[in-house]
Amino acid sequence: MNINKLIDFLRCPYCLSDALSLDSNKIICVGCGASFDVIEDVPIMMKKENLCRQETSQREWFNRHYSEFSKEEYKLENWRLSMLERIFGVSFKASVSRYLDIGCGATGYTVIEAAKRNGWCSFGADISIEAMRRAQHLAKKQGVGDLTGFVVCSAQNLPFKPQSLDYVSAISVLEHIEDDRKVIQGLYNITADNGYAYICVPNTYRRIWPFLWPVYLYLDHKIGHKRHYSIEALNEKMGANNCFELEKVFYNGHLIKLWQLVLDKFKLVDNGCWWKMEKKDINQCARGVQLNAIYRRK
Ligand SMILES: [Zn+2]
Repeated sequence: MNINKLIDFLRCPYCLSDALSLDSNKIICVGCGASFDVIEDVPIMMKKENLCRQETSQREWFNRHYSEFSKEEYKLENWRLSMLERIFGVSFKASVSRYLDIGCGATGYTVIEAAKRNGWCSFGADISIEAMRRAQHLAKKQGVGDLTGFVVCSAQNLPFKPQSLDYVSAISVLEHIEDDRKVIQGLYNITADNGYAYICVPNTYRRIWPFLWPVYLYLDHKIGHKRHYSIEALNEKMGANNCFELEKVFYNGHLIKLWQLVLDKFKLVDNGCWWKMEKKDINQCARGVQLNAIYRRK
């Protein structure tokens, strides 16, 4: 969507003022005077100097990571299609019209597909400028440029107006963040009454198979994860200050996933069989490496 429309959903991430004005290629906060650059209709709603050390290193890591992505290619691999089914196959789907994916990455596929499939007014947020420019470009190419908006920001200082969204997802985000409670408070602020949040995080070590620990230790170190979560710990954080109530929890990444990955690598699994394994992998057994939880805002 063009910047004039997008700005209606935004507020200053620092003084929280709704009064933003557009001055050529800058958004100016009337409240505190902060100015934010706009690059190709993507507002940069954060200041480099205000990022914490973890955010700065994560931003650099993801900018490097995303610069390797093709700008032109938009491909929905099976694992992405499966993620979309998990996010959009929800009972409250009909009540959603405004959706945000935090940490949506360079393909912006959750945002693009939310607009394409569901007709939702959809937003993507990410700390990487590189990612948001690419996602914006792909959204336009996919014909949903008018329904989608992409914003560069810190998840700890979300620049969206209070209660401006019906459904917010944060897929593999909280584990990257220094102050995850601040993100959750932000989620609460921007989600409408009885809105929903979809959270996906790495499951606690003590529930996943010990032979997988070295791989996860390596990945945690490489990507910069701060922690894993048990459902109890996540419920405690999401439920603090009476913010959110758990609706549903499920796990993916069980042993069958490992078989599926191996068979897929050696091209020993056809599409039908891949999906059969995928459906089996997504279940309530708490041994999975990924924890998915849907919360309703109180
Ligand atoms: Zn301000």
